[in-house]
Amino acid sequence: MARILIIGAGGVSGVAVHKCAQASEVFTDICLASRTKSKCDAIAAQLKRPIRTEQVDADNVPELVTLIRDFQPDVVLNLALPYQDLHIMDACLETGVHYIDAANYEPLDEAHFEYSWQWAYQDRFKEKGIMALLGCGFDPGVTNVFTSWAVKQNYFDTIDTLDIIDANAADNGHPFATNFNPEINIREVSAPGKYYADGQFIETKPMEFSQVFDFPGGIGPKKMYLLWHEELESLVPFLKQKGLKEARFWMTFSDNYLKHLEVLENVGMTRIDPVKFQGQEIVPIQFLKALLPDPATLGPTTKGKTCIGCLIRGKKDGKDRQYYIYNICDHQECYKEVMSQAVSYTTGVPAMIGAMLIATGVWKGAGVYNMEQLDPAPFMEKLNQYGLPWVEEFK
Ligand code: NDP
Repeated sequence: MARILIIGAGGVSGVAVHKCAQASEVFTDICLASRTKSKCDAIAAQLKRPIRTEQVDADNVPELVTLIRDFQPDVVLNLALPYQDLHIMDACLETGVHYIDAANYEPLDEAHFEYSWQWAYQDRFKEKGIMALLGCGFDPGVTNVFTSWAVKQNYFDTIDTLDIIDANAADNGHPFATNFNPEINIREVSAPGKYYADGQFIETKPMEFSQVFDFPGGIGPKKMYLLWHEELESLVPFLKQKGLKEARFWMTFSDNYLKHLEVLENVGMTRIDPVKFQGQEIVPIQFLKALLPDPATLGPTTKGKTCIGCLIRGKKDGKDRQYYIYNICDHQECYKEVMSQAVSYTTGVPAMIGAMLIATGVWKGAGVYNMEQLDPAPFMEKLNQYGLPWVEEFK
């Protein structure tokens, strides 16, 4: 019996709302609020049960506080953009409601994300007796839980390397389109890479390192590139207990995607600083977002599969061990179920599960948490139950 307020009405939110609506035994009341109310109403119209919809500017804390006080949710699920994280956390603090998001805070004027801004809320959330759960999507999110699962199950005595591997082996039917918010996606992939080795984080040029990985589930060999990804920031200290030597994040990109990105970068279309155009200031990457297909509309045209998982190497009982845990998700199957492609699905389902575990008191605590700090077992069980089954392979 829980009340949930979901903020943002894009691709990921659409899936989370569908999934919360399906889980009516837990989420008895749902409110979906976003900047553009018509997008909330469009999602609400797809559901079999009524939900409340509202307009809210999530950068306006008093507006958020008024909405939270009126709806009185048990948990607020932030599926707007990383720029809104701190404002929504402020509103949760003021009203004493648990907070969850799927991406860490990023300032609007700097393509730079790290947890420090949100970890700085630790004492305030503790004092208030409420929980903030950070990065509850797939990566970050499920990848953190997969890693803590491997540790909790005692699969390793020591861990040498962690490779988080994300493939989207799909065609979305467009010459160039991103599978989640284009602005966030392009800022992420055009930034310098970074990985952890022998006690330090090492920066790379964007897309400097690549390798071919043979993916399971009929996907086959794909080229993947080393990126910096936020879950490494919390997983590296977590895995130090196991002697971690190296941690990297990899994502596949097609040659076509990279060619378009290179041209867009070269002509300045990915710039995040304002430029004067016909007497007004525009930010090129925001203009580009307006031209590109909305990821929430890619469901009908996207065909193929995602495969995201963790490849861990280390030692057990004196012998070398390799452990690969992953989920495979089919874009068209997701569309049939919730009218959305798999990138939104693989993010929206874990977000709903995190909200469910907090709302039902299975995960509880006061303060700011990353996913690996909580018991992985109930989350792993719910992944199988709610559409993201996982596979384990040992070598
Ligand atoms: P979309 O761009 O599709 O949706 C974002 C939504 O947030 C839009 O409805 C937008 O409103 C709304 N929004 C933006 N600013 C405000 C504001 N000030 N007030 C209220 N609403 C606002 O993004 P996605 O659904 O693709 O992504 C959602 C989040 O999930 C992002 O933070 C993204 O980084 C994260 N993500 C995480 C992943 C993971 O695995 N952890 C993977 C993929 C995404 P409007 O419609 O008016 O523009």
